[in-house]
Amino acid sequence: MSDIRDDATELFTAITGRTPDGLWSAPGRVNLIGEHTDYNQGFVLPFAIDRRTVVAAGLREDAVIRVASTFSTGVVELPLAELDGVRGQMDWADYPLGVAWGLGRSGADLAAVPGVDLVIDSTVPVGAGLSSSAAIECAVAVALDELWRLGMSRPALARIGQLAENEFVGAPTGIMDQSASLLGRPDAAVFLDCRSLEVELVDLGLAAAGLTVLVMDTRVAHAHSTGGYGERRASCERGAATLGVSSLREIGIQDLDRARELLDDVTFRRVRHVVTENQRVLDTVRALRENGPLAIGDLLDASHRSLRDDFEVSVPELDLAVETALENGAIGARMTGGGFGGSAIALAPLDAVSRIQVALDGAFAEHGFTNPEVFTVTPSTGAERDS
Ligand code: ADP
Ligand code: MG
Repeated sequence: MSDIRDDATELFTAITGRTPDGLWSAPGRVNLIGEHTDYNQGFVLPFAIDRRTVVAAGLREDAVIRVASTFSTGVVELPLAELDGVRGQMDWADYPLGVAWGLGRSGADLAAVPGVDLVIDSTVPVGAGLSSSAAIECAVAVALDELWRLGMSRPALARIGQLAENEFVGAPTGIMDQSASLLGRPDAAVFLDCRSLEVELVDLGLAAAGLTVLVMDTRVAHAHSTGGYGERRASCERGAATLGVSSLREIGIQDLDRARELLDDVTFRRVRHVVTENQRVLDTVRALRENGPLAIGDLLDASHRSLRDDFEVSVPELDLAVETALENGAIGARMTGGGFGGSAIALAPLDAVSRIQVALDGAFAEHGFTNPEVFTVTPSTGAERDS
């Protein structure tokens, strides 16, 4: 953490000749369970991880916003008044600029607030399914909220991050990632009802049970604004419309027989994934509360099978990672994030981690796949001011 703070501060000073007014950071997230349920108004259970994006930020005396990142050379600069005209055109800078724009859409007066310099560094791997996009959005959101004295609530900032991603970047994603990044707590998961936006923290108790969560990044790149994500989303909307409900949240397991009669096979399987996944999230929350994390392995496994067979968003690398982890001591494993690449997670006893790592290296080499990046994550605190 101190490294990225130092690097962001150093780059801020190199670019602006000033020291930043402050440093804010926000974490990536892992979704424990509840995949492709968020945009269906359903349940999700992510947690914030110990990989963060930091933003060094300082107000300017004009009305210009400037953004830079250690991930990319150059500085992007434009008047706050011109944000609306560059939507979707600024590459990576769409994320931070989109948040400034989103704040303008949600109550901030962009004609009145001072300009700002934002310099970003991160330890969240990009495109690995750990939501580096929410980390950058939420770090910028808490920084601008404080610097511009907006006093917005965390749930409001989560919606602004989502607005930035949907309408500025152009990726039709739900509100889960920003909620986890803004509301996470150490050793807890964020149980979010995406219909009511009610949030409860659920103790994970991982350390007490001798467990950890292993992230297995397949390094297969995914792209939400172009990939099958939008198509899956459209399928769910079609299914809900045919069933006469406003979203798939309105139906349960008991409605699946009727859904099978009314829907074509593909749409039915998309719907079945969402409906059963919602139930698995509820079952996971109850199991965690009543019996602790050792009791949730089967639910994680069932989630993976549903994503693979019904929702069809897995890839061979994710399936191999899950199988290999389970064969080598994990108590549960599943792909996490939107799919089509990215990462899988395994819930594993601490003493099985190195065995799983070695087995993954061997299995991926045998299949001719790129060696996966494997690391453990710790449920950590959400966005905050660092200094
Ligand atoms: P992820 O699963 O990591 O969220 P996305 O495709 O949703 O993948 O978002 C990744 C994009 O977010 C990157 O391609 C880049 O445009 C932007 N991004 C994330 N972190 C940073 C960063 N530290 N600096 C600059 N851009 C970033
Ligand atoms: Mg993302």
